[in-house]
Amino acid sequence: MFSKKMVQSIGSSSMIRAMFEEGERLRKLYGADKVYDFSIGNPDTEPPQSVRDAIIKYASSNEPGEHRYMSNAGYSNVRKTIAESISKNSGISISDNNVVMTCGAAGGLNVSLKAILNPDDEVVVIAPFFMEYLSYIDNNNGKSVVIEADTDTFEPNFTQLIEKITKKTKAVIINSPNNPTGIVYSEKILTHLNDILLLKGKEFNTTIFVLSDEPYSKIVYDSVTVPSVLKFIKNSIIVNSFSKSLALPGERIGYIAVSPLIDDHQTLSDIMVICNRILGFVNAPALFQKVVASTINEGVNVREYQNKRDLLFNGLIDIGFECIKPQGAFYLFPKSLIADDVEFTKRASKYNLLFVPGSGFGCPGYFRLAYCVNIKTIENSLPSFRSLYEEFK
Ligand code: PLP
Repeated sequence: MFSKKMVQSIGSSSMIRAMFEEGERLRKLYGADKVYDFSIGNPDTEPPQSVRDAIIKYASSNEPGEHRYMSNAGYSNVRKTIAESISKNSGISISDNNVVMTCGAAGGLNVSLKAILNPDDEVVVIAPFFMEYLSYIDNNNGKSVVIEADTDTFEPNFTQLIEKITKKTKAVIINSPNNPTGIVYSEKILTHLNDILLLKGKEFNTTIFVLSDEPYSKIVYDSVTVPSVLKFIKNSIIVNSFSKSLALPGERIGYIAVSPLIDDHQTLSDIMVICNRILGFVNAPALFQKVVASTINEGVNVREYQNKRDLLFNGLIDIGFECIKPQGAFYLFPKSLIADDVEFTKRASKYNLLFVPGSGFGCPGYFRLAYCVNIKTIENSLPSFRSLYEEFK
C-alpha cells in the first residue's frame, strides 16, 4: 500500500529509535540526571544573545512584505553578506549569484546532489560518515560508493579512492571537522584530493565535484584552523549551516556556495535554485535568513565545547579507552571494547550510558559519543564508563 522502500527504511532506522526508547525507559526508571545520554548531536547550548536579539528585532518588524515568497535562492542582500564573508575567509572571490540559501545543511546536500547527479552516477563517501548521506544520494538517484578512512588517523584512504573512481563518479562528499571522528582535514589532504580528482577527471573526461559538508567549520579547538576547501579544491561545492555554529538546528537555515572556479558555475548555481524550489523547500526561512546575515561573525562559545571535550576525552583515556583526540565538532569516536559494537552499545545501557555504535556510521568496532550535553552529565558519567570498561577488560 505504501512505498516499499520507505517501509523498509523504518526497519533500518530502528537502531536509533530503539536507543531513543531505551533512553526514555531509563529516564523514567532512574531520573533524567542519572542517565548519560550521548546519543544525539543536538546542542544543549542556547544561541548567542546577539542572535536572540536579532530574532526579536526581525520578528517584530512592521515592514510590509516580510513574510512573502522571495527569490528561491534567498534574499539578495543576505546572499551578498554571505558571499563577502566566504570571499574574505577563503581568498576566493565569490559572488552572491553563487550562493543559495537552504533549509540547513541537509537541504543543501539534497539540492546539490539533485543538481549534479544523473541516474546511477556514483558518489564516494568516506567511512565513518554521517549516515544520512546514503539516503540523500539515493533520494537523488545516485549510487553510494564507500571507501574507508585510515583508522590510525581517520584521514581518507587515497589508495582506495583511486581504485574506486570510475567514469560514473560524480562527487566525493567530505566533512571536516568530521562527524563522528572530530578530525580536521589539513591543506595537504585537500591538495592531494584535488590532484587525484583532477587527474581522474582528465582520464575519464568528466568533472568530479567535492561536496564539502561543513556545519562544524566554526567549532574547532587548540587554535586549529580549518583550511578553506574553496581555496584548495577546484570543483568544490560548499554546504554549510548555522545549526551548530549558532545552535539553531531547529530553525533549518544554511547555504550552498558554488566555487567560481567550476566551469559553467553559473549554470550550476541556477539549477540549484530550481532544485531548492522543486524539492519542496521553495526557499530558506525568511526570518532566519535575516538573522544569520546580521550575525554573520557570531558563534557559540567554543571554549565551552573544548572544556567538555577535554573532560570526556581525558576521562576516557584515563580509564583505558582508545580514542583519537578530536580537533573539532563535538563528538568522540573511541574503540569499542568488543568487536560487536552494536552489542557493546546495548550492554552499556546497563550503566545508563547511551551512545551510537560505529556501525551507524559505516565503521564497526567503534562507538560515537556526542558531548554537546551539560558538563555535569559528562562529570557524572565517568564512574559509569569506568564500570563499563571493567566489565570488558
Ligand atoms: N552533516 C553532518 C555531518 C551533520 O552532523 C549534520 C547534523 O548533525 C548535518 C549535515 C545536517 O545539518 P543541518 O541540521 O544543518 O541540516
